[in-house]
Amino acid sequence: MAYDQLKADSALCAGTRKAGQKCNGTVHVCGACGARGCKQNQGSCTGQAFDVLDRCIQCGALAMQPAG
Ligand SMILES: [Zn+2]
Ligand SMILES: [Zn+2]
Repeated sequence: MAYDQLKADSALCAGTRKAGQKCNGTVHVCGACGARGCKQNQGSCTGQAFDVLDRCIQCGALAMQPAG
């Protein structure tokens, strides 16, 4: 598998939106607890890790970073 494809896979959210479709949102990483996920209105996606204010849902830190 090409490196670009691996990178694209790891950087896209694999969660499911409310409507049932795959999210494919950009994935971010929490610099405090390491949680990975997309940024959404809270409750919008099963793979969500951050709310719209960039706050980590798991630990509450404002330490959102780009996913490798
Ligand atoms: Zn966190
Ligand atoms: Zn998502």
